[in-house]
Amino acid sequence: MRTLPGIGVSRGIEIGPVYQFQHVSLEFDTHKVAVPELEWERYQAAVQTTLTSLEHIYDKAVDEIGTDEAAIFRAHMNILQDPDVNDGVQERILNEGINAEAALQAVTDEYIELLSEIEDEYIRARVLDIRDVRTSLLRTLLGVAETKVEIREPSVILSRDLTPSDCLLIPKGLIKGFCTIDGGTTSHTAILARSLGVPALVGAPEEILSIPSGTNAIIDGYAGQIIVEPDEATLARYQEFRSAKQAALSAALDEAEKPAVTLDGRTVQVFANIGSDDEQDLETAIAMGAEGVGLLRTEFIYLDMDRMPDEELQFKKYSAVTKAFGAQRPVILRTLDIGGDKQLPYLELPYEMNPFLGVRGLRLCLRNIPLFKTQLRAALRASAYGCLQIMLPMVTKVAEVRKARALLEECRAELLEEGYEIPERVDLGIMIEIPAAALMAEHLAKEVDFFSIGTNDLSQYTLAVDRTNQNLADLANAFDPAVLTLVRSVSRAAHKYGKIVGICGELAGDPLAVPLLVGLGLDELSMNVPALPVAKQIIRRLRASEMEALAEEALTLETPAEVKKLVAERLPFISELG
Ligand code: PEP
Ligand code: MG
Repeated sequence: MRTLPGIGVSRGIEIGPVYQFQHVSLEFDTHKVAVPELEWERYQAAVQTTLTSLEHIYDKAVDEIGTDEAAIFRAHMNILQDPDVNDGVQERILNEGINAEAALQAVTDEYIELLSEIEDEYIRARVLDIRDVRTSLLRTLLGVAETKVEIREPSVILSRDLTPSDCLLIPKGLIKGFCTIDGGTTSHTAILARSLGVPALVGAPEEILSIPSGTNAIIDGYAGQIIVEPDEATLARYQEFRSAKQAALSAALDEAEKPAVTLDGRTVQVFANIGSDDEQDLETAIAMGAEGVGLLRTEFIYLDMDRMPDEELQFKKYSAVTKAFGAQRPVILRTLDIGGDKQLPYLELPYEMNPFLGVRGLRLCLRNIPLFKTQLRAALRASAYGCLQIMLPMVTKVAEVRKARALLEECRAELLEEGYEIPERVDLGIMIEIPAAALMAEHLAKEVDFFSIGTNDLSQYTLAVDRTNQNLADLANAFDPAVLTLVRSVSRAAHKYGKIVGICGELAGDPLAVPLLVGLGLDELSMNVPALPVAKQIIRRLRASEMEALAEEALTLETPAEVKKLVAERLPFISELG
């Protein structure tokens, strides 16, 4: 028996054989070609063939993992057509007279080298994307078939790294978990594992590559470890642990549709974070207990396109979500939050030294009024089909909210003039994710109908930690008492003016955070769909008045670890559920 460490990026426990995912080697040499012009034509033909096959992969991905996650293949298509890369390849083929494979390798190597010098997890992920596209293109040029995946039984997939297209080669039903050497918490493997509900580890040691396929193992996404050839006693312990977790989860699922009311009668609304208009995804969210959508990340529409989506398309997508959730379940539509780590290829934005501190979210929309108005008009039109509310991201000050509200009113007037029927009232709220907004919450509360605290960004800006920087992952922690202190003051400010305050950062879905958030007075928690049933179950077992005292105590502590320990010790039932 061997226990190997890793970073748990998706919770859960699975027991089963491992499968070594091996990439086929693509070997070629550098040589002179007889007619460079013909070689360049061969390269262009290979780009077209690869593009067509990427389109098929994209369609397959939309069916299997949803539009949001499939967007990565659109990004791959853009890389494939990148004029800088293709011009570079053309120049090498025509000027140096070398073969297309070697020219492609040389040009992409230069990019990869340049980007690899940047210490940033997002950029590192882009390097993986470039490699992935290069591999597909080399395969086409060399006429080598795709990596053969001969997996026969559900297994824990081991690999140095897994690209999105690698993941698609493995049938979903045969994935028991992932364990890779490369990758971070926001890597594709991590995101896919969470959406499939299987455990995943990244940052595992090289040793995992020498474990033969078929070897029995336990992957533990909670503790962040993989146990190879477990002995009888360990196996028995884990089997018991796993059955207990599954029983708790299915009990939580049975009650998922019931409301979340504390033992002393406080109702907490439990909403879902959604990034798709896929009918199946929306149905699943409701079946898992979503009482509304606390965050509709509208970027999914924009990221999926190669040009700006028009009003009609946006209207269709927003109204699909509002219709699915009906009149009783609010859908909070967040206006476009582009910038920072999310870019749109068709929206040429100037280079920024610190994009997270740059023209992002509402700042960008207020500088691109036609883009913003198109979205607001689509949202207002969709509000006639359910209970839609509008939320602005990246708000720093009151003046921005006033400008946005004025534009919203302008859109309403235009639409009424054009004969559209729009409800008289559409709530307008803001995300509190910038410390300045948290500190000025009382002023902002007078301007809006609700707040939703975005602890992902609030943590990064409060703690001055880039949320995509793998090396600082342990510092960027929303359990930090500094962040929780801001959450408390935002909650108090909202309530002072009779406004609703929710939270839609990842923290909301963490079982250990739920009691604290109830104690801090949040009216609504919005989280990833798989986290819903357990969060509701936890709330039903709490006494709000006791949680207030617990939250106050947590705020006297110094570190996120102490805060988590306090909750885990006081409420031991949580570790059985979550
Ligand atoms: C947040 O910042 O907490 C949030 C929910 O928004 P996003 O993660 O999309 O920036
Ligand atoms: Mg945010």
